[in-house]
Amino acid sequence: MALPAGPGPIFDAAVVGAGAAGLAAALALAREGFETCLVGRFDARADGRTIALLDGSVRFLEALGVWEGLRERAAPLATMRIIDDSRSLFRPPPAGFRATEIGLEAFGWNVENVELVRTLIEAARASSQLTLRDPGAVDSSFLQEVANIGLEDGSIVSARLVVAADGRNSRLREARDITTRSWSYPQSALTTILAHERDHRDASTEFHTRFGPFTLVPLPGRRSSLVWVTSRAHAERLVGLDDDALGAAVERQAQSILGKMRVEGPRGLVAMSGLSVERYTAERLALIGEAAHVFPPIGAQGLNLGFRDAAALRDAVVDARAEGADIGGPAALGRYQRSRDLDVRLRTAAVDGLNRTLLAAFLPADFLRGLGLIAISEIGPLRRTLMREGVLPSIGAPRLMRPRPA
Ligand SMILES: Cc1cc2nc3c(=O)[nH]c(=O)nc-3n(C[C@H](O)[C@H](O)[C@H](O)COP(=O)(O)OP(=O)(O)OC[C@H]3O[C@@H](n4cnc5c(N)ncnc54)[C@H](O)[C@@H]3O)c2cc1C
Repeated sequence: MALPAGPGPIFDAAVVGAGAAGLAAALALAREGFETCLVGRFDARADGRTIALLDGSVRFLEALGVWEGLRERAAPLATMRIIDDSRSLFRPPPAGFRATEIGLEAFGWNVENVELVRTLIEAARASSQLTLRDPGAVDSSFLQEVANIGLEDGSIVSARLVVAADGRNSRLREARDITTRSWSYPQSALTTILAHERDHRDASTEFHTRFGPFTLVPLPGRRSSLVWVTSRAHAERLVGLDDDALGAAVERQAQSILGKMRVEGPRGLVAMSGLSVERYTAERLALIGEAAHVFPPIGAQGLNLGFRDAAALRDAVVDARAEGADIGGPAALGRYQRSRDLDVRLRTAAVDGLNRTLLAAFLPADFLRGLGLIAISEIGPLRRTLMREGVLPSIGAPRLMRPRPA
């Protein structure tokens, strides 16, 4: 049965889900003067996860007015190093990439997820253009003119456009029969935060092991975050170690490049899996963030894409309004769909390809991976193009993420 419209106002947009993607989308829409309602509970618990925000995401947060407060809690990623530790016959030499080669101070900035979410929550609370509703969404109906979202307390929020930012198990997505494809890898990722003896010099280091990438990403001070992708059994053994034994295991795997390691943060164990959707929209509905794509924690893609979704949706509805069109109508949603399709597909294929060639233990795959890394290291124009594309796609980047003209 279709839900009736609520007695309250009809919002321009209702964003369901107050994770980082939903908060950013709600702030971006409210900032443009759209009457926006954000539905969801605020939750900012420390889980040891950090987010490497690439340059375009930082520009987006700047435009939302939240970067200033976050910057001092983030560390710049000025250099990225890749070390092949796969013990393959075709083992390329270590490769290093500097952000200054493409005219940037940093490829991005690494910050604890809890700090990022807290800062976005403060901005949402301070925004006079945002209406906040914390009961969860339990029901929805999408009509020709308006969409209605039923909340846990029995109230109804009505809007012309609904943004599903309700995470990987999105109810809104499921209710609209959007086909998904999900997959898993025979690996888990151990995450934590470490203090160490030597300076990281703003460099992140990725060791490509036969069981997956082992990555240390700088945090302010002599601290780094760890994402150690390995076999499920090994990850479970590691997570069960006491702090001293885990610190020693990390130092060994990192070939002591940062000296002695001390575990400083909570630990997380993340199953390696992915999800993609066959389309990003349905009538009056747009999917963003993990409701639209789930990545294993390799290559800092997940939330950077989630922010690109939010910024691209903002462009699509701003353009629809400028043309006098319905912001939840087919023209606006069609524009959003087109802007996301290729970007998400390319990133999904790149992350999946890297992980599978590492796991393959297959000489031709090792050869291609090694050759690829040598080509990227040695061929200047290719190297710079890939660095730029890694930070932000050159075609179709959302407007708030583009570099400002010099
Ligand atoms: C170990 C690890 C490291 C990572 N590192 C990086 C990185 O370096 N760079 C990067 O870009 N990404 C990274 N990611 C990915 C990133 O963390 C995720 O992409 C991001 O947190 C997803 O945000 P989201 O807002 O889409 O989803 P979520 O954070 O899952 O938010 C969804 C929200 O919706 C709410 N919700 C659900 N159902 C309802 C409902 N019915 N009503 C109301 N609210 C509802 C939930 O409570 C939640 O608050 C990493 C992930 C992991 C696991």
